[in-house]
Amino acid sequence: MPVISRRVFMGAAVSVCAGAPSHAMPSALVTPVLRLPADDHPTVALTLDACPGAFDLRLARALVDLAIPTTLFLTNIWIHRNPEAVSFLQNHHDLFSLQNHGDRHLPPVLGAVPVYGLPVAGTIAAIEAEVVGGAHAVAAVSGVAPHWYRGAAALYSPDALTPIGRLGFGIGGFSLNADMGASLPARSVAARIGQARDRDVIIGHINQPLRPSGAGIAAGVAALKAQGMRFVRLPDQIAI
Ligand SMILES: [Zn+2]
Repeated sequence: MPVISRRVFMGAAVSVCAGAPSHAMPSALVTPVLRLPADDHPTVALTLDACPGAFDLRLARALVDLAIPTTLFLTNIWIHRNPEAVSFLQNHHDLFSLQNHGDRHLPPVLGAVPVYGLPVAGTIAAIEAEVVGGAHAVAAVSGVAPHWYRGAAALYSPDALTPIGRLGFGIGGFSLNADMGASLPARSVAARIGQARDRDVIIGHINQPLRPSGAGIAAGVAALKAQGMRFVRLPDQIAI
């Protein structure tokens, strides 16, 4: 199966209203839609974020037991707080591709208005520092330079996308939000994953072990796999 350029498959950016007054938000934020290239077998990509926080070991073990190739987006903060988790992921590098969720979990957003309560990077230089810092942290533990970046909150100032691309990163968009920021009960998460269609890129979280959403991810992907869905990692499917 050919690995195909992301440019062909990056869908149109979808405007997202962050709820800020227009005078404080000079331009709408975007969250790019990402889907996989067409293939001859129904295929999806599971992508899980490790923001700041802990490690959902039960979910990780379930993914190992189910042999689900998964793309993980790690922050530098999470890497330093969770050395045992990093070792676990390294021990299963055949399954887990480690990618870049930023240095300090600052949304790649210009200005000064927080996003979902998170302080934003604010300037292009700070966004670049966020991307580069996260990449160095991931490369230091995985031995492999990441080529995918997903910003904190998965929201971007449109003017940030080109500078991020110039640094050599594809934007880790998605097409199916499984857990809404790890906020949903397990049954809802499993049901949403059950709606996955061929070529979907699914987003969830692996940093909230005390919330029920992780069990929903495990149940959802188990059911999809039982139906014959194939799982792939982003770098294996789309070249940057
Ligand atoms: Zn995050």
